[in-house]
Amino acid sequence: MNQASPMTRDQIVSVIRDFIGESPLNTMNNKAGDPAWDDVLVGFAAGSDPIWQQYKEYVGAFHWTPWEVLNQNLPMENVSAEQLTVISWILPQRKDVRKANRLTRTYPSEAWARIRVYGEEMNAALRKHLVERLEKAGHPAVAPMLVPNWTIVNSKEYSYASSWSERHAAHAAGLGTFGLCDGLITARGKAMRAGSVVAKLTVDPDPRPYNDHRAYCLFFTDNTCGKCIDRCPARAITEAGHDKEKCRQHLARSREYVKHTYAFEGYGCGLCQAGVPCESMIPVKAAREALKRGELPPPPPPLA
Ligand code: SF4
Ligand code: SF4
Repeated sequence: MNQASPMTRDQIVSVIRDFIGESPLNTMNNKAGDPAWDDVLVGFAAGSDPIWQQYKEYVGAFHWTPWEVLNQNLPMENVSAEQLTVISWILPQRKDVRKANRLTRTYPSEAWARIRVYGEEMNAALRKHLVERLEKAGHPAVAPMLVPNWTIVNSKEYSYASSWSERHAAHAAGLGTFGLCDGLITARGKAMRAGSVVAKLTVDPDPRPYNDHRAYCLFFTDNTCGKCIDRCPARAITEAGHDKEKCRQHLARSREYVKHTYAFEGYGCGLCQAGVPCESMIPVKAAREALKRGELPPPPPPLA
């Protein structure tokens, strides 16, 4: 019998922030003992938001709704989508990690590769920790990226995709919009990693402060920029978008480089996330200013 009190959104944000501030797992495992992460943005999306069904159309039918992932992994009777909330967070890359990757031309800096491995281990620990804390408070919860049936799926349109996308969850929770390179541009930029947990919990969702899923990218709003095209060593980004297969092959090649150059088992790239106008902020001035005023940005012009 669970007598615990329901959690509020402020308590959930505190659990996330405290874990980042206090967990010994928050480390890059380098000699200096630097933390992997020093800040977080948190957003909430309703389990019944129609955007989850839209993802089935745009990403693929295999992309779970919050209700599907919770019920597949924690079957419960009579739980509706209206009773669910998705808690999503953005871990912005620290300044020195971004700076290090700005200087690279082919493979990741050591700092970036360490974040890809150890920073992501911390992100996984954060997902588990939040699930445990929610469950203790009486909220059944799952971290979709950690459930055994999370999988990568071949997709006709996207070459491959997965049953849950942290970037799409963050977009649903009002945390950012997509750029030409497929990355999510948030208020703290595109150099980040994301995480999420689905819980039986009702809190007010965050409004999405945009009406177009590309509102923060200069290429789509002003027909300018395209800096991520030049930064990509694998020529995986063009004006037509992001070639996931070329990107994947480059990431696979980076394993040898990381092992021989930095002497640990890792990989990464992220060159398109550093040394670009969207690295650490929303580069579209009108959208950045609209967000500060709590207004919607002007819609991008129609594609030529
Ligand atoms: S670098 Fe420019 S074109 Fe590429 S995602 Fe960022 S804003 Fe868009
Ligand atoms: S698209 Fe892939 S290969 Fe190209 S810069 Fe970005 S992460 Fe690297």
